[in-house]
Amino acid sequence: MMPLLRARQEKPSWTPTRWKSAVLLQLLGLIALFVVFIQIRDEKTEAHSLGGSSIRSKKLLPWRPGLLDIHHLQVGSSVSSFVIMPDGTTALIDCGDLNVQQALRDWKAMGPPFDSLNLRSPHPNDSKTPAGWVVEYLEEFWPKSTQQQPSSKQKKTLDYLLVTHFHADHIGDGSPRQTDRSKSSSGNYILSGIPELVSKVNVKKIIDRGSPMNKEADHIAMEDATIKNYLQFMEENQDFISFEQFQVGSADQVKMQRRPHDYDFHIRVLKSNLQVVAIPHDPHHPAKDDITQVKTIENSGDSSTAEHAAHGDENTMSAAFVFEYGNFRYYEGGDQEIIRSKNGDIVLDTIGPTASAAGKVDVATLNHHGHGVSKEYLTDIDPLIMILQGWSSDQPPKRSIEMIASMPYKTNDKSTIPRKIFATDMFQNRLDEFGPELSKLFASTSGHTVVRVHPPPPKEDKTEPQMFEVLVLDGNRKIKAHHGHFPVRRTER
Ligand SMILES: [Zn+2]
Repeated sequence: MMPLLRARQEKPSWTPTRWKSAVLLQLLGLIALFVVFIQIRDEKTEAHSLGGSSIRSKKLLPWRPGLLDIHHLQVGSSVSSFVIMPDGTTALIDCGDLNVQQALRDWKAMGPPFDSLNLRSPHPNDSKTPAGWVVEYLEEFWPKSTQQQPSSKQKKTLDYLLVTHFHADHIGDGSPRQTDRSKSSSGNYILSGIPELVSKVNVKKIIDRGSPMNKEADHIAMEDATIKNYLQFMEENQDFISFEQFQVGSADQVKMQRRPHDYDFHIRVLKSNLQVVAIPHDPHHPAKDDITQVKTIENSGDSSTAEHAAHGDENTMSAAFVFEYGNFRYYEGGDQEIIRSKNGDIVLDTIGPTASAAGKVDVATLNHHGHGVSKEYLTDIDPLIMILQGWSSDQPPKRSIEMIASMPYKTNDKSTIPRKIFATDMFQNRLDEFGPELSKLFASTSGHTVVRVHPPPPKEDKTEPQMFEVLVLDGNRKIKAHHGHFPVRRTER
């Protein structure tokens, strides 16, 4: 019996089960080989396309230490940018949400020109809210090679949430028209925009132009339903989140948290409310005299516009920042705006003073969805690359695009080249109105727009400039266009 048994025991080396295992192993091996092949191919394609070729890779190569990634998201009627600093510190700038159907109904009731407006629904579709799409985007592009490696089930933790100003497209709609969003567990505020995001993602610190401790200051319209909703959210989350007010002039308030001494990167707050830093000569220690107050122009315009401006137009209260990484510079100005009277006189201009505080940059967002463009913006900030964060059919206005076309970018050798605009979203009616010549300024009219900045080359290497590139991702977050590398404009500091 025994030999037979042994024979039976040995025989199974080719029983169906073992045979299946062998085939499975071989299959797994083949799959692994295939995956490696695809990765190598993608990396090669990416490397090729970085040189300016039109060849595209499918996926954005993951962030790695040393890269500064600034993602401008296309998520519907919302503005939101996700920043990964060179050491992996994360920040989100704004996270809005509009109830599009209700907002359109309200605006149509206001008559021309608002009755012809069209607004974007959540992108890529209605199955999620704008904040829901932001969370999904963070999941995909979260920096994995830092200490922060929560499992996919764990909530991510953003180091910073920076709030430029208190409008629904930047913080979420808290008005009664926001009927199809859930309420907080307390039932006291609506989960739209930032409150919704914070219900799904942890945030260590939120910095905005006011604070619960400073409600009376700085023209905060306490009776506004969206602001009330946001303040209620703040009040109920003070034990979990640190809330701060922007310190104008500071380059230390928003900073790298992991390896701050390894990279020459900082974010400087140029402006908040109507305070603006006057001369950016020493970002670390701004003298008190360097902070000035932007004022309404006396005796200008009709009294109602002047009064509106004097009581604080929310757009003109926007915070503004400059990011500096090596020689690379980036400007974000929220919804900086010029308030004009009915006959066109300037009553309040926050674009000019902010632009002069910023100085020249490589990449800039267009203030106020393209409405906040002025000669000062183009002369002082002077970007080659402009990001338009749009969601309405009146963004950007034609006069802004005409101005951008008439003031091209001057290269170091004094020749001029057209500036490039990357729109996260734009309605076709805009291109129809602009015509073929102005439309050429748009490098892209739809898609998440990623500015990827490479580390500065070693100091001793004077021949290699620092480089950045711009990648446009589609609704599936795959690369659809790739521009660059571009050299930074300054070679020395
Ligand atoms: Zn806005």
